[in-house]
Amino acid sequence: TVGAVALDAMGNLATATSTGGMSNKWDGRIGDTPIIGAGTWADGHIAISGTGAGEFFIRQGTARYIALRANLLGETPAAAGKLAMLEMKSIGGDGGVICLDSTGRFTMTFCSDGMYRGCCSAQTGHVPAIGIFHSEKIAPDDNHVSLP
Ligand code: ASP
Repeated sequence: TVGAVALDAMGNLATATSTGGMSNKWDGRIGDTPIIGAGTWADGHIAISGTGAGEFFIRQGTARYIALRANLLGETPAAAGKLAMLEMKSIGGDGGVICLDSTGRFTMTFCSDGMYRGCCSAQTGHVPAIGIFHSEKIAPDDNHVSLP
């Protein structure tokens, strides 16, 4: 899976998520990536893209869950993303998310062993434009979320 979340100089957010699915996937399997609110989401306040075992993203409604916590409870992307990953780990899931809000706060958090990720920003007026990408390729990484 590869995904991106971006914020433009006007404060508009966007998400794009694309995947080949899981290895040896069943015929007809859809996964979480094309399901708005599971593996991908954007509204006026937060943009989210996910990678990992899609069945858990669908079960948890991961992207929408993070958006709700950020938008209704005022949680930061980092706090809402971390909680989603902690819960995902606790139900046996595996994956990660990138989240960016309209003020430019972002997180790249995961409960898998690793997640390739990066971010960049360009000053375009007074609001930074930020893009983040990720891939499901797992590499050992010490920034993952651990269960308490
Ligand atoms: N989330 C994708 C799926 O379940 C797989 C992936 O992220 O690699 O189809």
